[in-house]
Amino acid sequence: MEARIQRAVERSGRQRAGVTLVAVSKKFSAERVREAYQAGLREFGENYVQEFADKQPRLADLKDARFHLIGHLQSNKARQACELFQAIQTVDSVKLLERLDAAAESGVVPDILLEIKLSGEENKSGAAPEQLPRLLEAASKCSRIRISGLMTMPPWSEDAEQSRPYFRRLAELARKHSLKQLSMGMSNDFEVAIEEGATVIRVGTALFGSRPKPQTGAPQAS
Ligand SMILES: *Cc1c(COP(=O)(O)O)cnc(C)c1O
Repeated sequence: MEARIQRAVERSGRQRAGVTLVAVSKKFSAERVREAYQAGLREFGENYVQEFADKQPRLADLKDARFHLIGHLQSNKARQACELFQAIQTVDSVKLLERLDAAAESGVVPDILLEIKLSGEENKSGAAPEQLPRLLEAASKCSRIRISGLMTMPPWSEDAEQSRPYFRRLAELARKHSLKQLSMGMSNDFEVAIEEGATVIRVGTALFGSRPKPQTGAPQAS
């Protein structure tokens, strides 16, 4: 993984320090997260507030680990998310911004990224790019939270080149609004994302292997 990141960084004339690897540990146990920490990883991505709330007590001693929420956040969980995560990458509405700002007043303020949906996929969360000025305007009125950048997730494709136009578009939007952080790129396309300026890549499968299947409790056909 590290060698692949390094090569992509060099190809694009960038610095390794300009790319943060977030290890996506959703569906993996607290023990797996601890092993990854012991192997040197410090930034972790989780998709579900409840799942991480269950793991967090077993990871509380990892003081310099940082946890990013990268899954959709419902505004009624804003307070809990502020307590659990050092970064929230999936803010996509004014309502959620305001809830987070109110929640942040009582504690440490997480880094906030706005999730932008650049595809027309209906089942995906994220704000439309046209909503970005409105979201930034609302954020400028927030007393605590600040927007540090943008996040996106292109339609999944085996071919990483399919992701490139989405990454390029996100980079353009960030530049236009002077936002520094660009969270883009997953196991299948992080190298292309680095070439297009990603400052944060979110990698799960390529680090941890395939995610365990959800346990439904239902008898499995064999
Ligand atoms: C699961 C997930 C990832 C990691 O995906 P992999 O393909 O396993 O690397 C990255 N970003 C988000 C938003 C995810 O939900």
